[in-house]
Amino acid sequence: MVIPDNHPRAKSLHERHKLIEGLHNNILTEAGLIAHGRGEAFDYLLHEQTHRFAEKAIKAAASQLILAKHPIISVNGNTAILIPEDMVRIANKHKIPLEINLFYRKEGRVEAIKNHLLTFGLDPNLLFGCDNSQYIEIQEISHLRRIVDRRGISIADVVVVPLEDGDRTQGLKKLNKKVITVDLNPLSRTSQTADITIVDNITRVFTLLEKELDLITRDEALEYLKKYDNQVILQESLRQIRQFNEKN
Ligand code: ATP
Repeated sequence: MVIPDNHPRAKSLHERHKLIEGLHNNILTEAGLIAHGRGEAFDYLLHEQTHRFAEKAIKAAASQLILAKHPIISVNGNTAILIPEDMVRIANKHKIPLEINLFYRKEGRVEAIKNHLLTFGLDPNLLFGCDNSQYIEIQEISHLRRIVDRRGISIADVVVVPLEDGDRTQGLKKLNKKVITVDLNPLSRTSQTADITIVDNITRVFTLLEKELDLITRDEALEYLKKYDNQVILQESLRQIRQFNEKN
């Protein structure tokens, strides 16, 4: 379907069509489409822009990643479709591996996501979660996402879990991992439990994260994290939603 560039919701429509295509290519599941809808609703409330509270959280995320011994970015169907180039660039440049970790492990889906990411030039050594011999189960998580890669999430000290469900975030926290999430809903269990919550659309976050990763030094990162308070960030995001929507 052709979407005119001057359509007021062109970006959103393009994304929806990419996601639907992803569904037909076995990368996304139906539930992924529904989760995207929930995200879109919150993005509307935030006037589809990156706010100061998100920028502060992005800087904290870059700080945490720069200081990590074993950082990892968890990939699901939605992120594979929405931001493959951004994730691959960050992975290759900053040697932060990607791990495919799915709630719905449909036949052939891991392989489809793997092939999709590799077409964007991902270094294959930086891709985990697609080799059966490396799988290990973490008991703190109750559903299929407990299957992780022994070279990736299993040993990671800092895990980026965008568009996540609350159970896994809580499970990862129980394992003493630092959890960074990107979630447009500041009220979700994930947003509330993560160490760093970036309340913004994933499609806007990773280019900003990349810029911060390019710039920040270890000393700056340590200083920045000392002052960072995720609860304040969550409060600021809720205040922003209220302010915007009281006026209208
Ligand atoms: P929880 O279990 O943490 O309370 P949930 O049940 O809403 O959350 P899911 O539906 O699995 O969890 O996750 C989807 C989350 O991702 C939602 O909170 C949604 O707002 C968010 N989300 C969806 N699309 C995007 C996007 N493009 N950018 C950022 N966040 C998004």
